[in-house]
Amino acid sequence: MTDFLDKEQIDRLWYLISSARKILIISHTNPDGDAMGSVTAMKHFLASKKIDSLIVVPNCYPEYLGFLDEDKDIQIYKTQKTIVDQYLADCDLIIALDFNQLKRVDDLEKILRSSDARKILIDHHPDPENDYFDLVISTTEISSTCELLYWSLISVESSANRENPTKIDIKTASSLYVGLMTDTNNFSNSVFGTTFQMASDLLMLGIDKEKLQHYVFGGFTESRMRLLGYLLQKKMVILPELEAGYIVLTKEEQKQFDFAEGDSEGFVNMPLNIRGVSVSALFTESTDNIRVSLRSIDDFSVNDMAKNFFNGGGHERASGGKLFMSVDKVPEYFVESLKKMKKIIAIVLSGLFILIAGCTKQDTELQLAEQIVSIDNYTKGKVSSGMRLIVNKGSSRVVIAEGAGDSLAVGDSVTFDFAGYVFQRGLGVLFETNVPLIAQTLGVNIYNRGFDFGKGVIGKGMFIDGLDKGLQGTKVGEHAYIVFPANMGFYKKDVGLIPKMSPLIYEVWIKAIKKN
Ligand code: 5GP
Ligand code: MN
Repeated sequence: MTDFLDKEQIDRLWYLISSARKILIISHTNPDGDAMGSVTAMKHFLASKKIDSLIVVPNCYPEYLGFLDEDKDIQIYKTQKTIVDQYLADCDLIIALDFNQLKRVDDLEKILRSSDARKILIDHHPDPENDYFDLVISTTEISSTCELLYWSLISVESSANRENPTKIDIKTASSLYVGLMTDTNNFSNSVFGTTFQMASDLLMLGIDKEKLQHYVFGGFTESRMRLLGYLLQKKMVILPELEAGYIVLTKEEQKQFDFAEGDSEGFVNMPLNIRGVSVSALFTESTDNIRVSLRSIDDFSVNDMAKNFFNGGGHERASGGKLFMSVDKVPEYFVESLKKMKKIIAIVLSGLFILIAGCTKQDTELQLAEQIVSIDNYTKGKVSSGMRLIVNKGSSRVVIAEGAGDSLAVGDSVTFDFAGYVFQRGLGVLFETNVPLIAQTLGVNIYNRGFDFGKGVIGKGMFIDGLDKGLQGTKVGEHAYIVFPANMGFYKKDVGLIPKMSPLIYEVWIKAIKKN
């Protein structure tokens, strides 16, 4: 089995599926090739095992992916609310694919949160919403959700489903190939060795590669091709000094070129083919917001950029989000945010990490962004020296020594030893500890903030947010660093030895866990 999957998870996946009566499969708003490929693959796979299921997506999928919805039975929540609400009310398993946070499903979020069905997530984005799901199969070290799903399904075949060890069927295989093609931009980025292995397996299973290729990347309507020509000729702006390019597509232009959902798919990659351009953006004006697509090459994190400036997120080199402003303001906003991102990176690279007191709102955002980048660099350094990194909702945990037994979840009680430091590209000022030896060695005469702090229940607001999120998933005996930006700590308050706007790092030793 591939090393990002563990056998327990696969057994549990099959157990949850085979003990379910009614299964709902969902993916994110504005479903793309990976979303549509993975949901339809899941449905075909279940059908091949004689298990019925229903697919729901929050809004319409692009026309060019319509071939995946062969039987036209995918439910669009926006227009089929009643059918979906009813199905959801009595389904007992929800399988979520290709998104990390429930806010990515828009209107469906509320009803999903109130469902008492069991929930599985299979996804490749950072920071999955672990608390909501009963089983999370997630890694970012993979090309696509379709790839993660493929390795999971064939593992199910070889382990749990011994009575009927058939290979995956051709329909499942064809759907999976779509996500592989689209999320790697036709095998040009986010490609791993396993990606080619999977592509090879699928070809051997007999998928019609040319046909799928044509459906997804070919088959332009004339107006779509002309739109591309127009955008490249008239609308693409290249900013050599910022190594960036962008395109703004207005509603007026969409009308002029008979624009249909999905027509601009892939266009955002175009500026990246120009020598010297390493960041690219496409802004598409829509009814109540502007859709943002970001791509990069080299080490520029468009995920950080989308999170900090575009109300979104995604992957390091492919992200998206939304803007709420008039379309003519977009170029200036993009240039400003790019300059800020570059400044953050320069600050971090030059090692000048300064905390400025009494800042304006913009400065606060800039500082938080700096902290995120700095924490990211620090934890990546630890990973390259062989330690394991887990990120839970913005709090990063580097495992120094592994624990064993039950893992700590929301509602469980935990007892731990700790030493809390201001984070300054490593351990800065020690501000509290319950370990006498550390306090003595570092000449600090506090043990804690006057109460038994290394003890409490997770998810009840007993600990500062970063620590609460960071502790989740730990096991007894674990020794780890938990690092998070100021907004997950004491934020704008000065607290004892902690200046306001301090990112924090806690060294923790887990002593006991009591499951809820
Ligand atoms: P695209 O540019 O193709 O629309 O999106 C690229 C990637 O960015 C998607 O695969 C998804 O991971 C992420 N993404 C797109 N839109 C959003 C958004 O509004 N919020 C978040 N969190 N991620 C997004
Ligand atoms: Mn994906």
